[in-house]
Amino acid sequence: MPKQGADSRLSRRRFLSLSSTAAAALGIAPLAVRPSESFAENAPSADDYYAKLGVAKIINAAGTYTYLTAACMPPQVQRAVAQAALHPVRLKDLQLAAGEYLAKKLRCEAAVVSSGASAALTLATAACIASANGASPQEIPENVDKMKNEVVVQKAHRYEYDHAMLLCGARIKEVVTLEDYKRALSPNTIMTNFFNAAEAGPDGAQIDRETWLRVAHEHGVPCHNDAAADMPPIENLWKYTGMGFDLVCFSGGKGIRGPQNAGLLLGKKHLIDLAVANNNPNSDAVGRGMKVAKEQIVGMVAAVDWLLEQSDEKNQAEYMRLTNIIVDAVKDVPTMKTRVFMPPIANHVPHLLLSYNPSVVGLTPQQVQEKLRAQTPSIELNPATGTSSRVGLPSDENTIVISTWMLQPGEAEIVGRSLRTALMKT
Ligand SMILES: *Cc1c(COP(=O)(O)O)cnc(C)c1O
Repeated sequence: MPKQGADSRLSRRRFLSLSSTAAAALGIAPLAVRPSESFAENAPSADDYYAKLGVAKIINAAGTYTYLTAACMPPQVQRAVAQAALHPVRLKDLQLAAGEYLAKKLRCEAAVVSSGASAALTLATAACIASANGASPQEIPENVDKMKNEVVVQKAHRYEYDHAMLLCGARIKEVVTLEDYKRALSPNTIMTNFFNAAEAGPDGAQIDRETWLRVAHEHGVPCHNDAAADMPPIENLWKYTGMGFDLVCFSGGKGIRGPQNAGLLLGKKHLIDLAVANNNPNSDAVGRGMKVAKEQIVGMVAAVDWLLEQSDEKNQAEYMRLTNIIVDAVKDVPTMKTRVFMPPIANHVPHLLLSYNPSVVGLTPQQVQEKLRAQTPSIELNPATGTSSRVGLPSDENTIVISTWMLQPGEAEIVGRSLRTALMKT
């Protein structure tokens, strides 16, 4: 059939020309990319809308930051998303089936795919308001100020995602000491929120995870744990529900490498049922604007399947191999000291810290960051570069920070070369 032959020849030609253009833009020979490892394996045969829109594709040497579109999906997840796009289904059927499947895989009573960890926190709050008050979805947030509505949180756990709880009409009650905490848990409390990554370290809270949970449960109050960025290790996906947290959220598009607008709320069946009641496609509900399309629900499930085939040891070894490629490229820069830091909880992967004397080298870390951002291909360094203000990363004004876990094949070499060019005077 000549027509079909012509079509497939055309798309094959397009595929080849695009992939060699992409390779040229990255300054690498096409053969340097090993397709079996590339997350761009399903290379586009359709129009490249990033090119059409004039949006720069970046090399992500920063990490799973939301403003950098977090992770790319592995090929098997991309294929599941593309497959899901081919047919309509009943959205509620898909939500419920995906939740049951994930609960089995992740060893908890129940689960729901949300539009991200932030939306999971909103659904958790709505569920706990509903549970404490017998409130219907229609009453949230309009009537919540007349109900039991307090969420108890440690002062050191206040964060930018508080907004996700407040939009249900809940009030936040801050505590510092264990005595404060016991006093604060009252008939007006609907839940507690624990910021998983903020437990340890100098800015850490006074009340540890186990004590926090035990005291809340002595008062009959459900506990939510925000573990959004806290995989790896993989076992964290069941560790916190296993400890007894009633609800736990994870971001779908960070380390799990699902769609960026997906996330997980895991936990007790009666609370997940209430979260679902407050979720889309129900229209008169706080979760209506947090819709997850069929493609993303399927993508989230496929990402969990992919992840459960992974090995933490192998992945960490690969991130270190990439880190060492960059170390080798810059280690003889004058005054350079390199060290690798693993954050203990969130983003628990190697972070490369490159510290040097900017007056000897001639450029500050922030100037290097700007330079790499402005070049083609554009490189994003970790936002802790040149500053000590990022919690959890021991950087300062003389330090460049790099995380390699979001790099695609061939990119560590480009990052190493670009840094070397920027930092070496000759
Ligand atoms: C990233 C993050 C979130 C939000 O996750 P999304 O999936 O982008 O909604 C919430 N809490 C913490 C601690 C995070 O790191």
